[in-house]
Amino acid sequence: MLELTELRWQAIYTNDISSDGMFFYAVKTTGIFCRPSCKSKPPNRANVDIFPDAKAAQAADYRPCKRCKPTGQTLPNEEWITQITNYIHHHFTEEITLAKLADIAHGSPYHLHRTFKRVNGITPAAYIHQLRIDRAKAKLIETNSTVSEIGEAVGLANTPYFITLFKRLTGYTPAHYRQLHTKEVK
Ligand SMILES: [Zn+2]
Repeated sequence: MLELTELRWQAIYTNDISSDGMFFYAVKTTGIFCRPSCKSKPPNRANVDIFPDAKAAQAADYRPCKRCKPTGQTLPNEEWITQITNYIHHHFTEEITLAKLADIAHGSPYHLHRTFKRVNGITPAAYIHQLRIDRAKAKLIETNSTVSEIGEAVGLANTPYFITLFKRLTGYTPAHYRQLHTKEVK
C-alpha cells in the first residue's frame, strides 16, 4: 500500500486525470476502488487506502468501481514501468545507471525517475539497492561465499561500498548479519 500524500489526496479530490495509472484509491466504507479521475463523490479522507496498481487493490479485497473501471485497461505508464522493473530484476547483477535504464526504456532519465517513483513508490536507485541487498541477505545465509564474492554476485563489486550500503539498509554489517542468522544452524 502507498501513502496518502497531500498530492495524491488533491488528485483524488480534483479528479485529476493525469494521475491515472500512478495509483488507485480504495474506500474502506464501500469496499470499492477507483482511478484518481473517477467522478464519484470524493470520499472521506480517513477512509482512503492507496494502492500502486489494481491488482494490489483486488488482493486487499476491494472491488473495481463500475463507473471508472479501474481494471479496464493497462495504462501506458504502468506498463512502461513494469517493463523497466522486469529489466531491473534480470540485470541487477550488472551495472545499472539511470541513464542506461532511460536509454533502454526510451524515455528521459528525469521522466523515468519521476514515473517510476509514482508507480512503485520508490526511486529506481532505491529499488535496485533494495533488490541487491535482499539477494545478498539470502546468499549470506544460504551460501558460504565471502562477503566480497556476495557483493560482486549482486552487482556491488566494490566491497566497502557493499558493506556500507548493506549496513545502511539492514542495520548490520554483512558479517554480523550472517552470524546472527546462521547461529542456530551451526
Ligand atoms: Zn470510480
